[in-house]
Amino acid sequence: MHCAMCPNGELEKGTVPMVMERQGVTVVFQHVPALICDQCGESYLDSEVTGHLLDALNQATACGGTHLDIREYGA
Ligand SMILES: [Zn+2]
Repeated sequence: MHCAMCPNGELEKGTVPMVMERQGVTVVFQHVPALICDQCGESYLDSEVTGHLLDALNQATACGGTHLDIREYGA
């Protein structure tokens, strides 16, 4: 697969940290599975992974009180 951001990038499977923010709550996810460009470092998440992140973000904002949450993806 080729990168959409640069002409020569090849995408490789790996994991990345993702930071998401909503309503003043920041959630950092560690080791999120992604395709990563070997040239520019751009990362691509599939829609299933994105869905999991949004669910977890919803949980984090719903419980309130926490402004920074660092969690392991899939934990
Ligand atoms: Zn690239």
